[in-house]
Amino acid sequence: MNEIKNENSLPKKLPGALCVQMIRCGKPSCKCARGELHGPYFYRFVWRKGRQRKLYVRRAEVELIRQACDEYRREAKRRRAQRMIDRLNLRALLDSFADMRALIAQMQGE
Ligand SMILES: [Zn+2]
Repeated sequence: MNEIKNENSLPKKLPGALCVQMIRCGKPSCKCARGELHGPYFYRFVWRKGRQRKLYVRRAEVELIRQACDEYRREAKRRRAQRMIDRLNLRALLDSFADMRALIAQMQGE
């Protein structure tokens, strides 16, 4: 699945979280061996098929990807809240049915 086709068709919502990393390349003679690390490099961490994937994010797309991740998170939160409201409404509805049945049984008993 290729979510990022080009800069003009970035999705409005993307799962995962944008993370920034500084890299040590491992060459003993490199400046990074003395603590001057390479980067920053940006990645989007996302769960896919049960494991966490690390997707490189181009510098030019960092802000858009960050917004898309935020939007996805907000949307997921809205969906969770809505599901909870749906469950509460359903329970209230079932409770009122039970009340009605009890009321009918009481009226029939009288
Ligand atoms: Zn290095």
